[in-house]
Amino acid sequence: MPRLAVLGHPVGHSRSPAMHSAALAELGMGDEWRYEAIDVAPEAFGVRVREMLREGFAGANVTVPHKGAAIGVADELSETAREIGAVNTLVFADGEIRADNTDAAGLLAALPASAAGKRALVLGAGGAARAIVWALVREGAEVAVWNRTELRSQHLCEELGGGPTTDPDQASYDLIVNSTSVGLAGEDPFDELPLRPEGFSTAQTVVDMVYGDAPTVLLRAAEAAGATVVDGIEVLVQQGALSLELWTGREAPVEAMRAAARR
Ligand code: NAP
Repeated sequence: MPRLAVLGHPVGHSRSPAMHSAALAELGMGDEWRYEAIDVAPEAFGVRVREMLREGFAGANVTVPHKGAAIGVADELSETAREIGAVNTLVFADGEIRADNTDAAGLLAALPASAAGKRALVLGAGGAARAIVWALVREGAEVAVWNRTELRSQHLCEELGGGPTTDPDQASYDLIVNSTSVGLAGEDPFDELPLRPEGFSTAQTVVDMVYGDAPTVLLRAAEAAGATVVDGIEVLVQQGALSLELWTGREAPVEAMRAAARR
């Protein structure tokens, strides 16, 4: 039985098992393939991944805090993962560990239209921001990056492209992506981020990578102002769909994955 998993620490909250199990069932592979959550402490990560190669795993998702460490376990690393500096997908094939990153393409797939030629503001300079800036720059967007700790946004832009900003003009962007963790612990995004609830417009698309059981304060304000909104679950679904296609070679049943991730 081919096995799949998400590796994280902690990982109990992950929606990936439900989402991928629904996908496998929809593809008629539910009796043969199994997707599970595996909690691995950072110091055990490399050894556990090598064991998985021998245990009949076909692939895995990698999440916090292992996305950087997963680079070191790869026999073959995609150029995307190398440039972003993070891995979210492992493929076990022919006795080798292949590592890739579908977070970047997942973000682009979640957008309602191409970001080419658009003015984009990315908030944050952590792991999620790296994949987003990499994706938007390569798609041909003009990218500005704001981060609470300025030095990090400067370094990120030197490495991946885009330009750091300390005082963004909210109205001037076609696309605004919150890739900070603000909102996760109930913080008010309008206290912590350089945005005003009344500063959104109908011409804008607003993405919040943070997600929970209810729409975030940020997305509710953007939607109330008439902006097009994309939540973090949609980005999760799209990166998961791309991972599933790498493992199975089948077209991912995105609708079934979306329904399971939102349940
Ligand atoms: P990370 O590497 O820890 O980065 C956290 C970022 O948030 C940093 O830029 C940090 O700024 C900023 N930040 C934290 N608290 C802040 C505050 N009070 N005010 C302003 N900025 C603050 O985390 P990550 O891996 O990039 O993840 C970020 C968020 O994206 C998390 O909520 C995560 O769950 C979500 N995410 C979602 C998906 C998805 O598929 N939907 C995928 C990946 C991540 P400093 O540099 O100043 O500390």
